[in-house]
Amino acid sequence: MPRSNPALAAQQPNPMFRIGALVYGRDDILHLEFGEPDFPTPAHISAAAIASITSERQGYGPGNGIAELRAAVAARVQRVNGFAPTAEQVVMTEGGTGGLMGSLLTLCAPGDIVLTPDPGWPGYDAMLAVAGVERAYYPLLSERGWLPDLAALEAAITPQTRVLLINSPSNPGGAVYPAETIAALMEIAARHDLWLLSDECYDELVFDARHISPAALDPDGRVLTVGSFSKTYAMTGWRIGWVVAPPAIAPALGLTTAAQINNLPLFVQRAALAALEGPQECVAEMRASYRARRDLATGLLSERGLLEYTPAGAFYLLVPVARAAGYGADEPFDTLAFAEALIAERGIALAPGMAFGSRTARYVRVSLASAPDVLRAGISGLLDFATGWRTHQ
Ligand code: PLP
Repeated sequence: MPRSNPALAAQQPNPMFRIGALVYGRDDILHLEFGEPDFPTPAHISAAAIASITSERQGYGPGNGIAELRAAVAARVQRVNGFAPTAEQVVMTEGGTGGLMGSLLTLCAPGDIVLTPDPGWPGYDAMLAVAGVERAYYPLLSERGWLPDLAALEAAITPQTRVLLINSPSNPGGAVYPAETIAALMEIAARHDLWLLSDECYDELVFDARHISPAALDPDGRVLTVGSFSKTYAMTGWRIGWVVAPPAIAPALGLTTAAQINNLPLFVQRAALAALEGPQECVAEMRASYRARRDLATGLLSERGLLEYTPAGAFYLLVPVARAAGYGADEPFDTLAFAEALIAERGIALAPGMAFGSRTARYVRVSLASAPDVLRAGISGLLDFATGWRTHQ
């Protein structure tokens, strides 16, 4: 047989798939594992999709999205992200995932290096392998609430580095990078002539901080901003997002996207248009719920002396589970074994920290996008289980 792509054959499945396989579809489990809003998609958004299906032909369409939606995204970006792109700079993509993948394929040639956060969203792993690029990491520091170590980041840059990938508000830490951090990242990108790929899929889920988009500080046109309807409008399964690219890059990004999907379904684009042009109270209400859940979760950790930081955005909290189990910093701890035993014995599912990189190997990630009673029972059960973990094994 001919060989297949060796970069993909070498990929290890992410531990999140193992957790998913154990708990998917089970209603006897307290689900705190995936970053998925528990709210339904707001009714006016679904209604727009249904109206499109019943009243319009669902044919092929433009690869970079319908014109009115691209214009609405440009207006939204001005409102939320603080810069004013033209509609031609907006490319509609298959979620933030499609936007990130398309951006990497547009910016990088095989062998280029992409500098990524540790810890970071596991979805980047397969994208980088598919794009045929090399990967380097920069540390996010637990002691700084999971903000980047800028000196270590700059030291990791080599002449082969092409793209600096950043993610604020962040998964899994929930950090919202302050203005001075974003400004410093922009300076570093300019000094080393890098593209800055900014994953802003959680940009409307910010509680006690202000979201700053690097593109608002970009005089050169080196920032690509990736956005998504998934988290803001509880539309994870609809698969729609966007990239705002510098004018010189946007046409190539449109080609890359068209090469992957040809076009997004028209009814999904109509739903997205309704999300942007309809009432925004649903966003404020969901944000307020996530904030209350964040406060509930941090309160439970604080009661046990385990609160290391307070996430200012997204809907995740990293729990220092090895510490909760009484393990010293130099004692090995297996978060995957812990997470699997927690499912089997307590019916509680969460994400093992090693799924996100080397620096969260002693943590678990709790998703705050779960109902408050699930959150309370899940976190209390997790912490009780951790207390007995050493003697359990
Ligand atoms: N970026 C981050 C950091 C994420 O956590 C996710 C999803 O969990 C995505 C991007 C992609 O989301 P989607 O493709 O649904 O827009």
